[in-house]
Amino acid sequence: MSAKKILMVVCDGVSDRPVKQFEGKTPLQVARTPAMDAVARNGVSGTMDVIAPGVVPGSDTAHLALFGYDPYKVYTGRGPIEAAGAEIPLVNGDVAFRCNFATSDDHMRIIDRRAGRIRSGTAELATVLSGMKIEDIEVIFKEASEHRGVLVLRGPGLDHRVTEVDPHREGAILKARAESPEAEKTARILNEFVAKSYDILSKHPVNERRKKEGLHPANIVLPRGAGSLGELEPLTQRFGIKCAAVAGVTLVRGICRMVGMDVPDVEGATGGLDTDYAAKADAAIGLLEDYDLVFVNVKAPDIAGHDGDFRQKVLAIENIDMMLGRILESIHEDVVVVLTADHSTPVIVKDHSADPVPVAVSGADSRIDDVRAFDEISAASGALGRIRGVDLLPIVLGMANRSSKFGA
Ligand code: ZN
Ligand code: ZN
Repeated sequence: MSAKKILMVVCDGVSDRPVKQFEGKTPLQVARTPAMDAVARNGVSGTMDVIAPGVVPGSDTAHLALFGYDPYKVYTGRGPIEAAGAEIPLVNGDVAFRCNFATSDDHMRIIDRRAGRIRSGTAELATVLSGMKIEDIEVIFKEASEHRGVLVLRGPGLDHRVTEVDPHREGAILKARAESPEAEKTARILNEFVAKSYDILSKHPVNERRKKEGLHPANIVLPRGAGSLGELEPLTQRFGIKCAAVAGVTLVRGICRMVGMDVPDVEGATGGLDTDYAAKADAAIGLLEDYDLVFVNVKAPDIAGHDGDFRQKVLAIENIDMMLGRILESIHEDVVVVLTADHSTPVIVKDHSADPVPVAVSGADSRIDDVRAFDEISAASGALGRIRGVDLLPIVLGMANRSSKFGA
């Protein structure tokens, strides 16, 4: 019995609820998806509570679960994941934050949390922030996608247990407070950093230019999601498998790196609605030659879900189906194909929800149930039943003949 390779395709936030105006169907039910349906038809389907029943997953915790890690044990805040995604290697004792470039008035009141959704110039802004020292702490700062950035504080005596600065709406910025005595210094440094970011950025040429163009300046940084490095045994060691990922979004790329995947850059894979699906397919096909597990994340359905745009979501699904079809066509050996989502992002909710997601798994000698289509409703009658996210990878490894015996 030879070990098989695994292809895991995660359609980010694809899972949905029925929508009245569309005959009470979900986007997955409306979209034309011959490749996805083939996976369901040739294997077993089920539904999955990615974290636990009734829990609304974030993309970060969800992906940890999909890779077989209990997010309640390993999750230390979003900062370290963003840092990994931005390719800032963390060392023990670092505290990392996820940040927004935002717009503040002269009284430290936020008037735009995303600085007019700034898309260019953030690299220049990041450069002037990075490298400064506050007391004996080194500041490392790097831009991330769109209006986001990553802050890493490095030096003695730091602790991630600090409250957020980001008010999460327009209004006065909050002062970071220590949630434990060990974090007093971190809170002080963090507040100092935010004040300095305003002093430095409000005079920066990028912002002078933005003001002239009538755009909101990115004149302050709002850190949140403080965390420090958790211990994560890489997949290579845990399961003895070589893994690679095709993903455009910084956050997802960060998690993939944290669990020991190789994450090559794929030209055109933007993590947006305009991502190059064919390029992603070709990258996956190439990686399947050298790796035991190839993971593909496509962010577009989640974006459409957040925008509450049913038609856009259907389009994203059909594009993913083309991508999947292109991959399936060129796979010659027997590969176990896993198709699922990291969470639901229903268009009527415009955010993530606790609804379970559909999952389908097929391989040449896999069992076959009666499910003929890949969608939320069809999947619920499948042979996999209702599983938890953390159980998915072990199940798939079993189907790929990669599990070891427990007992004699
Ligand atoms: Zn997601
Ligand atoms: Zn989302």
